[in-house]
Amino acid sequence: MSGMDKILEFNDEQETVTVQAGITFEALERTLLEYDMSLPGVVIAPQLGAMTLGAAIVTSAHGSSLVGPATVAQFLHSALLVDGTGDIQILDNPGQVLEGSLGMFGVVTEVTMYVQQKKKMAVRQIQSEDFDLVADLRDIIDNSEALALDVTWNPTAGMYQARVWHETDAASRGDSHNVQLQQPPDWLMELPERVYRDQLDLLDREGHMCEVIGELSHLPRFSHSHPDPDGAGSEPQPDDGTPPDTAIGWLNQLATASCAGAAFAAPVPDLCLLTSAKLTPHELAINSQDFSSWLADARAVLRHALGCPPFVLNFRFVGESDSPLALSSGRQVVAIEMSTLSSHNGERAGLHVKFSRLHEELLQMTMCKYGGRPAWAFASNRLLRGAPCAVRDLYADSFERFLELRASYDPAGLFLPPLFRDVIDRRGPVYYPGCAAHLDCFCVTDHHCGPDHECVPGTEFPQYRVCAPLTDKSKFEL
Ligand SMILES: Cc1cc2nc3c(=O)[nH]c(=O)nc-3n(C[C@H](O)[C@H](O)[C@H](O)COP(=O)(O)OP(=O)(O)OC[C@H]3O[C@@H](n4cnc5c(N)ncnc54)[C@H](O)[C@@H]3O)c2cc1C
Repeated sequence: MSGMDKILEFNDEQETVTVQAGITFEALERTLLEYDMSLPGVVIAPQLGAMTLGAAIVTSAHGSSLVGPATVAQFLHSALLVDGTGDIQILDNPGQVLEGSLGMFGVVTEVTMYVQQKKKMAVRQIQSEDFDLVADLRDIIDNSEALALDVTWNPTAGMYQARVWHETDAASRGDSHNVQLQQPPDWLMELPERVYRDQLDLLDREGHMCEVIGELSHLPRFSHSHPDPDGAGSEPQPDDGTPPDTAIGWLNQLATASCAGAAFAAPVPDLCLLTSAKLTPHELAINSQDFSSWLADARAVLRHALGCPPFVLNFRFVGESDSPLALSSGRQVVAIEMSTLSSHNGERAGLHVKFSRLHEELLQMTMCKYGGRPAWAFASNRLLRGAPCAVRDLYADSFERFLELRASYDPAGLFLPPLFRDVIDRRGPVYYPGCAAHLDCFCVTDHHCGPDHECVPGTEFPQYRVCAPLTDKSKFEL
């Protein structure tokens, strides 16, 4: 779809823009800003600016919002779909049909979406100890009149960072950008070696990951200067009166992170978090009402981390959707991201991601105890096929509704991938030696874990089996 990236038409009267579905968020947001426009809603764009609009719609990708929808699909006016029979369908309720459809109805070629006058946002970043995390978040949601909130939790440090989004006057000074993937070049240059050494340090005696995660959570999310020299100085710095913990800028440049422009600022081309380390995304969405008890269970699991696991957790808030396979179908959700950080070299050397036993326990607990739905764009094979509970059942009756729609748009199953057939049939994983290390299964026997690991019951939730390093044994016996 990368060739289908054109903006076709602005319609001022109905406040819409018509675009081809292969346009990326970063390109769309940049062009909208040139026309003094922003995406609709508050934070509806996915974190990753390189994601295409079509992919975001069909995978139910989301931002985070406390008012109104957090997905782009909910703001579509109409869409063109080439369905499985070759017909071109003009959809006038595209959000309801396409959100979470995973490309199984056909190819979305063009969408018309609502846009709005460009919005200036003030994002306050609060860093605090986590012992009252749920009460703190409830207080922000109930009392701050925030439009959006997203949170990073670092359980090992006992800290969280909340980003609280408010709209501010368009005349406010500030041109901040999201630099979540573009940390300072020196830091990024050293990262590969530090992450690799952490993976070699099996007993976690040297504390590399504690330092990396600690620094990462303190590095600024937003920068006042533009990463592209062409854009430098295009807007003044914030007023002196702006609190130092607040970033002010256009919504277009704050919501998504991007590696684009990294080549300008860095001493080596394309230096960016995604090139310096291997970030493996994982995300599950639970009913927001269950968040407090989920957090208590997650704390219990993570209490067994003697050292620093290579992941932090991000929470984003997504309102209910009517679409059958939307992540938030039929319920308001908290999307819990648990992406792991490891080393590209470590992967080549066949090293395991550290603390995978805790990560595996968290994933299975979130999915099976809390009915956590794996984010479609983030899911490893083992979540879709091979967890102790079936994805299909997490959608209850709306899964049947999806199958009916799918059959009507694509009766011959042209767009039905084999992996999704397995989801429909609730099929388990294909087991092979090391399948758990390759994220294709959760282990049943030691062979599934690969070398130097054994398959053991989870520490808090023994019903879920996890891979533990043999070297870890002594620590867990202490
Ligand atoms: C650091 C990082 C951050 C990320 N952040 C997010 C995030 O915030 N939210 C999120 O959801 N994901 C996120 N992802 C995952 C990301 O969504 C996937 O990598 C995604 O698949 C990339 O999008 P793409 O445009 O390349 O789509 P593709 O991989 O090409 O497509 C994804 C799916 O959509 C279908 N599809 C794509 N275009 C169309 C179309 N026009 N018509 C019909 N079907 C189509 C494809 O068939 C496929 O099933 C992140 C990944 C990384 C590495």
